[in-house]
Amino acid sequence: MATNKVVDLRSDTVTKPSEAMRATMARRPWLRGRDGVDDDVQRPGRYAYLQYELSMHGIKNNMGNLVSVLAHCDVRGSEVILVDDSHIHLYENGGVSTIGGVHPETVRNNADGTMDIDRIVSTIRPPGGGLYYPTTRLICLENTHGNSGGKCLSVEYTDKVGEIAKSHGLKLHIDGARIFNASVALGVPVDRLVKAADSVLVCMSKGLGAPVGSVIVGSKAFIDKAKILRKTGMRKVGVLCAAAHVAVRDTLGKLADDHRKAPVRLFLSQGLNKIEQFTVDSASVESNMVFLDIVDSRISCDKLCQVLGTHNVLSNPRSPKSVRLGLHYQISDTDVQYALTCFNKAVEELLKGSTEFEHLADTTTKNSYGH
Ligand SMILES: *Cc1c(COP(=O)(O)O)cnc(C)c1O
Repeated sequence: MATNKVVDLRSDTVTKPSEAMRATMARRPWLRGRDGVDDDVQRPGRYAYLQYELSMHGIKNNMGNLVSVLAHCDVRGSEVILVDDSHIHLYENGGVSTIGGVHPETVRNNADGTMDIDRIVSTIRPPGGGLYYPTTRLICLENTHGNSGGKCLSVEYTDKVGEIAKSHGLKLHIDGARIFNASVALGVPVDRLVKAADSVLVCMSKGLGAPVGSVIVGSKAFIDKAKILRKTGMRKVGVLCAAAHVAVRDTLGKLADDHRKAPVRLFLSQGLNKIEQFTVDSASVESNMVFLDIVDSRISCDKLCQVLGTHNVLSNPRSPKSVRLGLHYQISDTDVQYALTCFNKAVEELLKGSTEFEHLADTTTKNSYGH
């Protein structure tokens, strides 16, 4: 059994760069990508599968969203409509408002990452709406939606939001940190899935295995603005671009394989569901995340995660009673089996009422729950 191996199920963000990626990064000439004149800005080609005019990489994901929102909302007094538990709204330091001066207007999540179309429409505040209001200029979607357990937004829904945006003179940005996961899970080519969007952010550092970095795509006019914004915070990004190229070349295919391993996710979610103290809605597992709810008052999420940790299985508390597990290509089938055994063991150990764990405190506060 893989006892001295750590099975890290906290998130797909824990993927480590491969040897090939490290070597390519190390070989990267030092000053390449210095002033945005290098291949950090691509013509269609390398990222042609997204079918946008230009792409730009060498930024971190948070920053990619921020740069995108600011590029679309470059008039002061702009407003962005987004889902209330989106990554941009919850986990990005409120950057769109604190740095960008863009007003966020949230619409409730329907538990699957979607906002009601009617609500989006009634939330839009057109220019010239009076002395009181900011002007809506942008709608953001997140696909897959992390806080809904990796749910995929369908192409029909995305197109519908795109139509609404267009008919109101707004732009649509997709936080597609995991857009390839959505594309593979839905069986829809990625360029079709994001067709309605004016810009898309794609994360290189989650399932694709780069240490840091993302790519944003859009029109030439959009990328021209984005390049200037990026320069405010980053330069000499060539080494990140090198990692991104290897991520796309080597890992993208593995991501698809990962999804073909649906039986493994099912094995995990059904296996966890068999443990009386847990429930997992297997039907809701659409991409690479599994949310586990604890239904036994004697077991807290923090203690469960800590005891799992003593067995070298790392997991992420989501709330006092729920754990998030993220699968990725560096987790093998054997790892999943091992993890499941450890979940069973951990429950047993915790229920023994063993004094051994009494010193483990519930230290996780609301604000420290991972994403
Ligand atoms: C992780 C993530 C980001 C930001 O990633 P960082 O690497 O922390 O910058 C943005 N959006 C979504 C949906 C994410 O999951």
